[in-house]
Amino acid sequence: MQPDTKYKAEQQAEYLKKMRANPRVTAVRVAAPQNCTVGQMVQGVYALGDAPALPLEGCSRPGGCICTYDPILDEIYP
Ligand SMILES: [Zn+2]
Repeated sequence: MQPDTKYKAEQQAEYLKKMRANPRVTAVRVAAPQNCTVGQMVQGVYALGDAPALPLEGCSRPGGCICTYDPILDEIYP
Protein backbone atom coordinates (compact mmCIF):
# COMPACT_ATOMS: atom_id res chain seq x y z
CA MET A 1 0.00 0.00 0.00
CA GLN A 2 1.23 3.50 -0.87
CA PRO A 3 1.97 5.71 2.16
CA ASP A 4 -0.58 8.18 0.82
CA THR A 5 -3.23 5.49 0.52
CA LYS A 6 -2.46 4.24 4.01
CA TYR A 7 -2.88 7.75 5.38
CA LYS A 8 -6.19 8.16 3.57
CA ALA A 9 -7.41 4.79 4.84
CA GLU A 10 -6.59 5.77 8.42
CA GLN A 11 -8.31 9.12 7.98
CA GLN A 12 -11.46 7.53 6.56
CA ALA A 13 -11.53 4.83 9.23
CA GLU A 14 -11.26 7.53 11.88
CA TYR A 15 -14.11 9.47 10.27
CA LEU A 16 -16.29 6.36 10.15
CA LYS A 17 -15.55 5.70 13.80
CA LYS A 18 -16.63 9.23 14.73
CA MET A 19 -19.87 8.84 12.80
CA ARG A 20 -20.59 5.56 14.55
CA ALA A 21 -20.05 7.25 17.91
CA ASN A 22 -22.42 10.12 17.05
CA PRO A 23 -26.00 9.30 18.03
CA ARG A 24 -27.36 11.76 15.47
CA VAL A 25 -25.78 9.87 12.58
CA THR A 26 -28.23 7.17 11.52
CA ALA A 27 -26.55 5.89 8.36
CA VAL A 28 -23.71 6.67 6.01
CA ARG A 29 -23.73 7.42 2.30
CA VAL A 30 -20.74 6.46 0.17
CA ALA A 31 -20.24 9.04 -2.54
CA ALA A 32 -18.05 8.29 -5.56
CA PRO A 33 -16.88 10.47 -8.45
CA GLN A 34 -17.77 9.52 -12.03
CA ASN A 35 -14.30 8.20 -12.82
CA CYS A 36 -14.14 5.82 -9.87
CA THR A 37 -15.58 2.66 -11.36
CA VAL A 38 -15.49 0.58 -8.18
CA GLY A 39 -17.03 3.48 -6.30
CA GLN A 40 -19.85 3.76 -8.82
CA MET A 41 -20.75 0.15 -8.01
CA VAL A 42 -20.71 0.47 -4.23
CA GLN A 43 -22.00 4.00 -3.75
CA GLY A 44 -25.23 4.30 -1.83
CA VAL A 45 -26.55 4.35 1.69
CA TYR A 46 -25.27 1.87 4.25
CA ALA A 47 -26.01 1.07 7.85
CA LEU A 48 -23.14 2.34 10.00
CA GLY A 49 -21.86 -1.17 10.64
CA ASP A 50 -22.01 -2.15 6.96
CA ALA A 51 -20.13 0.68 5.28
CA PRO A 52 -17.27 -0.48 3.06
CA ALA A 53 -13.74 0.61 3.93
CA LEU A 54 -12.45 3.62 2.01
CA PRO A 55 -10.47 4.24 -0.11
CA LEU A 56 -11.84 1.35 -2.10
CA GLU A 57 -9.54 -1.46 -3.02
CA GLY A 58 -9.26 -1.83 -6.78
CA CYS A 59 -10.33 1.73 -7.55
CA SER A 60 -9.13 2.52 -11.07
CA ARG A 61 -9.22 6.28 -10.76
CA PRO A 62 -5.89 7.86 -11.78
CA GLY A 63 -4.38 9.39 -8.66
CA GLY A 64 -6.25 7.11 -6.31
CA CYS A 65 -9.66 6.62 -4.86
CA ILE A 66 -11.36 9.78 -3.62
CA CYS A 67 -14.64 8.22 -2.54
CA THR A 68 -16.02 9.81 0.61
CA TYR A 69 -18.42 9.13 3.45
CA ASP A 70 -21.39 11.39 3.97
CA PRO A 71 -23.16 11.16 7.29
CA ILE A 72 -26.93 10.83 7.20
CA LEU A 73 -28.28 12.71 10.18
CA ASP A 74 -31.37 12.16 12.19
CA GLU A 75 -33.26 15.34 11.40
CA ILE A 76 -35.97 14.83 13.98
CA TYR A 77 -35.31 16.90 17.06
CA PRO A 78 -37.11 16.16 20.30
ZN1 LIG B 1 -12.82 5.38 -5.48
